Amino acid sequence: MQWIIVKLINIKVKKMIKIDELIEDYNLHESLGKDIDFIFKLLLFTLKDFKRDYKIVFNMVTQNPLLWQKLALDTNKIFEKEDLLIAEYEPCTEYPFYRLYSYRYKEKSALSLEAFSSLLKREINVEDTKELYNKYNDPELTKNYINWEKNLNNQLASLSDISYGRINNTKIKQTIILHRQPLGCIVCGEKATGYISTILMNKDAILIIASTCDKHQELAKQNPCFLHFLSKLFQMGLDLSSMKMNEKIEKNLIELLISEIKRELNCELLKNIYNELKDEYVLTFKRISGVLIILRLHTFMDYGYMVNRPSGEAFQRIDSAPDHKEIKFFPDHLHRTITKNKKPNVESSYTFGFPILDLPSIIKMVNRLETELT
Ligand SMILES: [Zn+2]
Ligand SMILES: [Zn+2]
Repeated sequence: MQWIIVKLINIKVKKMIKIDELIEDYNLHESLGKDIDFIFKLLLFTLKDFKRDYKIVFNMVTQNPLLWQKLALDTNKIFEKEDLLIAEYEPCTEYPFYRLYSYRYKEKSALSLEAFSSLLKREINVEDTKELYNKYNDPELTKNYINWEKNLNNQLASLSDISYGRINNTKIKQTIILHRQPLGCIVCGEKATGYISTILMNKDAILIIASTCDKHQELAKQNPCFLHFLSKLFQMGLDLSSMKMNEKIEKNLIELLISEIKRELNCELLKNIYNELKDEYVLTFKRISGVLIILRLHTFMDYGYMVNRPSGEAFQRIDSAPDHKEIKFFPDHLHRTITKNKKPNVESSYTFGFPILDLPSIIKMVNRLETELT
């Protein structure tokens, strides 16, 4: 498999890559050195903006001598440099960068270089700095790496946009993008034209997105095993993958939803109307300021969140009507202003149609109106 896993979060972190934390996160304690390196290969694109000495070298430091030994066992290149023991894994076509796993043996352990050497049954030489410098600055490899990064950035641009849209407007705290080289489709690696996604609830909501080609989008959508496979892949608790996006919100969820909104928006429920003809719920809430929040819930593909002035006059609205083909992320959108007989003033809202996940967007509309009112 030539996958790339991209993890996006809201903050731009620039720090040393802490492999011990990642081993913890991905539960890799029992894995062999080469398998650990395999997982890191997939993940490192996410860390490409971290500061590092050479474009084509990802240097990761462990505090764990046993982990370092495992990594050293599965590569044929180990050496010592400036009090660091280093296990080096070579670049290949799909992953054109070196991975160096380092352990600062002089500070931490009682073991000497010779002891490590005899444990591994191999000689550990001190590497020449000048030689390493030349190797890691290799112009051909550097060019390859830069092209690889550029291609992936281009291919992942629209999914990154969706990810950050979701992170900034919904309860999603993190997204994980699965991309198969060379061109994206998670099943076959051919040119990705669409994506499928699912939400996992761990401590936070995590959005998982996988690129697909035309041929495999339907297959992936229809096959619930695929989503189970994704959830298993990350070994997380409860997943919402059974929630099909073209389905309606179930009745028992409505109750949960009402109490959650009352709590998070600090408001009271004025009306809860079920319209049998349209098969939809319309919930009306009121804030102490008099601001009204009206949620129209039919399915995850057909919904509206209205925020109205205390007089009842419309202020802003988020809905999913497929009217604005020109927006970045179609069809869900925010009406920035609502004026009758005027050209709609809209932008992508990146919302799901499930109010609990979309609360940050609803709160933003309420805040805008209340700021205006005071
Ligand atoms: Zn495919
Ligand atoms: Zn609209």
